[in-house]
Amino acid sequence: MTHGEIIGTVAALRSSFDAGTTKPLAWRMRQLRALRALLIENGTELEQALSRDLGKNPTESQLAEIGFVVGEIDYALKRLRKWLRPRPVQVPGSLMPARASVVREPLGVVLIIAPWNYPVQLLLAPLVGALGGGNAVALKPSENAPATSAALARLVPRYLDQRAIAVVEGAVSETTELLAQRFDHIFYTGNSRVARLVMAASIKNLTPVTLELGGKSPVYVDDSVDLAVAARRIAWAKFMNAGQTCVAPDYVLATPEVARALEPHLVAAVREFYGDNPAKSPDYARIVNDAQFARLTGLLGDGRTVLGGAPDPSTRYFAPTILADIPRESTIMLQEIFGPVLPIVTVSGVQDAIQLIREGDKPLALYVFTERDAVRRRFLTETSSGAVGVDVSAAHLAVAGLPFGGVGGSGFGAYHGERSLEVFSHEKAVLSKPLKPDTLRLIYPPYTERKDHFIRGLLRKLR
Ligand code: NAD
Repeated sequence: MTHGEIIGTVAALRSSFDAGTTKPLAWRMRQLRALRALLIENGTELEQALSRDLGKNPTESQLAEIGFVVGEIDYALKRLRKWLRPRPVQVPGSLMPARASVVREPLGVVLIIAPWNYPVQLLLAPLVGALGGGNAVALKPSENAPATSAALARLVPRYLDQRAIAVVEGAVSETTELLAQRFDHIFYTGNSRVARLVMAASIKNLTPVTLELGGKSPVYVDDSVDLAVAARRIAWAKFMNAGQTCVAPDYVLATPEVARALEPHLVAAVREFYGDNPAKSPDYARIVNDAQFARLTGLLGDGRTVLGGAPDPSTRYFAPTILADIPRESTIMLQEIFGPVLPIVTVSGVQDAIQLIREGDKPLALYVFTERDAVRRRFLTETSSGAVGVDVSAAHLAVAGLPFGGVGGSGFGAYHGERSLEVFSHEKAVLSKPLKPDTLRLIYPPYTERKDHFIRGLLRKLR
């Protein structure tokens, strides 16, 4: 799209919203059902696109992308009517008779900007909330997943109401032009450098933003757990999509003894999932592009290689890699890894681990593998993160009732389930008071001694 076409597209969305196209509950339900049909009827095409972009296995594409969004749609379709009902709120006696309620209204025209790592899920899961909320939507898929971007740009207009939902493909120049337009909400998922540009652009129109970012999600393991189970749960979340997952365990913290004991279990888990040569496994993904591949290769070099290494740039195959004895100041500990390299850093115990975590940005997720209640409690109360997984990693995403989002450096605002609707709605306060009897006269000036006495008494009652 040219810049002129982008301006025209957003203007057309605005006209459709202003005309009331998106407001009726029936329209919202129809769009959600159409989105569901898009995903079901074109599952194979989307699986193929994801395979071309990332080498994703079709089963994994269903689990974490296509089926995931269908789950969000079904959850919303069942509850949308109820979520949109005005919610009555108690009125203080001093204001009676009156009725108060909270009414959810659409925000207007919203922009959803998605990254490449889960290019279906991260574009369409927010869309569920935006449509449920009755908004017109501009969708910006990632140029770094070009096959998926092209498939969605072709399919979305075929299934959804083109007057109110538009896909704008492109890279920096197109996104910059989009960000120059007026939106009523911007929902951005991606890295924190671009997040700053998004937020800077939002200042012009005081547009609220949701920022779903990444960061280093730590894992702490102690000796009270079954290490084989813990290793499987860590390795699954880490090496799924070749580590290109925002909630993937970034690094492991353990005492030297636990670290040593954990190593063979992690190796065994990788072999169980992907065989002796993961390059041949149909279940193991590839690194998205050469730039990411070079960045990841640059993170190697420190510590002892327990498994993996020897990346192959010609196929962008980056073996599942486990590194031990990693010094805390090594390059790999200074940035989000976002690839299939799992460093193990030794700590003296819980206190040391908590301190190390607290020295960094607040993570998107924190995982603690322990059977000790006291240790769980310490991590829960002494660290801050978007989410905590106790004896489990990454699966919290699948609980629609849990907010999904970051805190501090990992972003702000959360979605999934009803929260997606909250993100894309304004909660309007409505108070309605009958004209008769005109009880408000009791508080109007002039403030005579009698009225002063009455008002002070009223305020005391309200306290
Ligand atoms: P990306 O390169 O696809 O960029 C994301 C979006 O920003 C794209 O649509 C792109 O077109 C746009 N963009 C890029 N440069 C821009 C610019 N200069 N101006 C305006 N727009 C621009 O994806 P990425 O940022 O590499 O994604 C990976 C990051 O996202 C990681 O840090 C990861 O942790 C994070 N992430 C977070 C979540 C979450 O839900 N919290 C999910 C997935 C990924």
